[in-house]
Amino acid sequence: MHSVQRKLTAISPATGKVIAEIEETPLGKVSAIYEQARAAFPVWRDLSIAERITYLKKLKEVILTELENISAIISDDTGKVKTEALTADLMPTLDAIGHISTSAQSVLKRKRVKTPLLLFGKKSYIEYFPRGVVLVISPWNYPFQLAMVPVLSALAAGNTVILKPSEVTPLVGKCMEQLFKKAGFPEGVVQVVHGGKELGAALTKEKPDYIFFTGSVKTGKIIQEQAAKDLIPTTLELGGKDPMIVFADANIERAAKGAVWAAFTNSGQVCMSAERIYVERPVFRKFVELVKKEVEALRHGIEENDDVGSMTFPAQREIVRQQLEEALAEGAVIETGKPPHEWDDGMFLPLTVVSNVQQRMKIIQEETFGPLLPVIPFDSEEEAIKYANDTEYGLNASVWSSDIGKARRVASKLITGSVVINDAIISFVNQSLPFGGVKKSGIGRYHGNAGLLIFCHEKAVVEDLGKRISEVYWYPYKGKYPIYLNFFKSYFSEKKDWVGIVKSYLKLMKKS
Ligand code: ADP
Repeated sequence: MHSVQRKLTAISPATGKVIAEIEETPLGKVSAIYEQARAAFPVWRDLSIAERITYLKKLKEVILTELENISAIISDDTGKVKTEALTADLMPTLDAIGHISTSAQSVLKRKRVKTPLLLFGKKSYIEYFPRGVVLVISPWNYPFQLAMVPVLSALAAGNTVILKPSEVTPLVGKCMEQLFKKAGFPEGVVQVVHGGKELGAALTKEKPDYIFFTGSVKTGKIIQEQAAKDLIPTTLELGGKDPMIVFADANIERAAKGAVWAAFTNSGQVCMSAERIYVERPVFRKFVELVKKEVEALRHGIEENDDVGSMTFPAQREIVRQQLEEALAEGAVIETGKPPHEWDDGMFLPLTVVSNVQQRMKIIQEETFGPLLPVIPFDSEEEAIKYANDTEYGLNASVWSSDIGKARRVASKLITGSVVINDAIISFVNQSLPFGGVKKSGIGRYHGNAGLLIFCHEKAVVEDLGKRISEVYWYPYKGKYPIYLNFFKSYFSEKKDWVGIVKSYLKLMKKS
């Protein structure tokens, strides 16, 4: 009997047409994939950082040569406009390679730290060494950068990597596999596998040395549970329900334009999209009217000059529909857009703005991941902060005001992993900043220095030249207790008694 090779079907969500079939990685191959990754690890680990970076730079060249082709693949597979494939998937990846190339040496080098007087005569430093085999499981909304950036960070730090991209966008997965091949990474250093949940689950059970996951809260919890069984460390980048706070003194035209972009870019399928907008009451109506005008001017489609593409994942349509229906049933008002019973069957959902929304509704509390934007008035700074912090998520947020002092004050009180003032989302684009969430938005950080450090063990080293015969704190203890008492009183008092310290230390030495 021979087993049938299973295939993942890539469907263009914009046209509904099948665009490719990609061979799935059989579950039976998982062990062999790990064996290959483990075999490749010592050689890759022992390369210098500079040598590893040459592979990343080669990959950058390959990506640059194929830029148009890759953005077309991303657009076909996700339904997003090519402009966004380029600016939001490819650009962050290219920028991350630049950032990693320039920072890896200094971030990963051995660092000398202070040694306390209690360890007199020694040196202390921190060394970083790679963890081993890193498993990266990535999602479909930014299928290129959300896979590439963690993979490249883990590689630069000296790990070998197994990447399982989302089965929803398999063509991008295949494309990444081919790019790594073209860049000439040594055999087994980075392996891309193709499949869905089952494959993801099988990979997490095979005891990787680290799991980097981006996706839903539901799957994040499953992965964390599995990882706990073998004490495998993880980073979880999960959902968001990002608030945008617009004060009356903000540049309202700018805020309205910014809100529309932040809510509808990638059809709202962004963990950091503006998912709920709180507007100070005196400018509420004006803001809503400006938002309506902006939304109604947008072009739906995936041609070069279009603004908003299609949804990517059919199941997401249903979530948007349910949240909107519930809100409408409870009195929400559509400012622009359409109620679900007027939608057609396609994946281009109407860009919908709703008002008269209550804080307890699902549309405010649960991640929508679609082109649906609720707008709510507020009456005071405290109320805005309270509303903004009142969800289970805490990824990003934005504060809009011409009073920078106020904007900063409010930003500091938001319980989130990042905040943007007078713009939205874009903190993610700065590779020097850490990225990650609080509450159910995730565990851990990447980008910035953290992006490399999470993929390393930190090793503390204390070094003695080994010339003395003994140490004061070694045996024998006889007669040392009262000396220690005096020593610590002199040493730990707010104003150190140096004479007492030296005297006690010399006495301890004599007894050692
Ligand atoms: P999203 O809806 O954002 O794609 P998911 O959490 O469903 O979020 O999927 C994100 C990634 O996690 C995908 O690559 C998917 O195949 C993978 N995945 C889903 N379920 C599991 C699981 N039980 N174990 C490991 N990976 C999984």
